[in-house]
Amino acid sequence: MVAGALPILWLSVGCNSVLGPSKLDNNWRSYDSVHFSLFVRPDSFAEANQARLAEVLDDQYTTTVARLGITYTGHISAFLYTSAADAALACNRCGMGYPDTEALRATCQAPLDGNLFYLLSHEANHIIQRNAMGRPGTYFMNDGLASAVISTRFHGVGNEFFWAWTASHASAIPALSVLIDDSKWGGTDDEYKASASFLAYLIDRAGPAPIRQLYQVESRSFAQRFNALYGRSLEDLERDWRAFCAARAQM
Ligand SMILES: [Zn+2]
Repeated sequence: MVAGALPILWLSVGCNSVLGPSKLDNNWRSYDSVHFSLFVRPDSFAEANQARLAEVLDDQYTTTVARLGITYTGHISAFLYTSAADAALACNRCGMGYPDTEALRATCQAPLDGNLFYLLSHEANHIIQRNAMGRPGTYFMNDGLASAVISTRFHGVGNEFFWAWTASHASAIPALSVLIDDSKWGGTDDEYKASASFLAYLIDRAGPAPIRQLYQVESRSFAQRFNALYGRSLEDLERDWRAFCAARAQM
């Protein structure tokens, strides 16, 4: 399930959200921000940029809470490693969230760009969302929603990016009936982006309340519950979403 996603496109991260603690060594320096404690390797790239990383993460934290209308007051520990080998992760732009211990681990390498900010924000969102809304019912919701509320204050990987990507990859995007089915989920980069794009569209269109109701719904009940919450079928709103993205790309 670790996406092992290699950095093919500039937005391409591997992510896996798991439970439980993991072993840590003692070779860290820590910096506290409003909502995070950043743990960095001494004299690393992450340490040199800890102030900006903290700023980005604090902004993401408040953005996620506001956009989803949720309550979360936890303090998150972010362990920022120098490489995939150092982090025991699959790639140099990979991360993992540990909602139960309110911690994340990620590789943190140059450049200091939107891809890195996006990766750290996505992992932080796993922790915030799971603690505020419970256990996600589908991979679609778990990883889609972690990307659907990304703040674009410091970089461009947000709603407009996902909607433009949707328009330019329309034929490659699986049907939503496939994306919401956990037995068909492969954890690919396309699945992540398409899920984020659709959920961002739903929040933009109908606010966060129905999403909170859908968060824990499992694959087999998803389409029916969706219909009850939105008063429209998944297929109908899928058509609207694709048309919305296509029209936006023409603007
Ligand atoms: Zn994820």
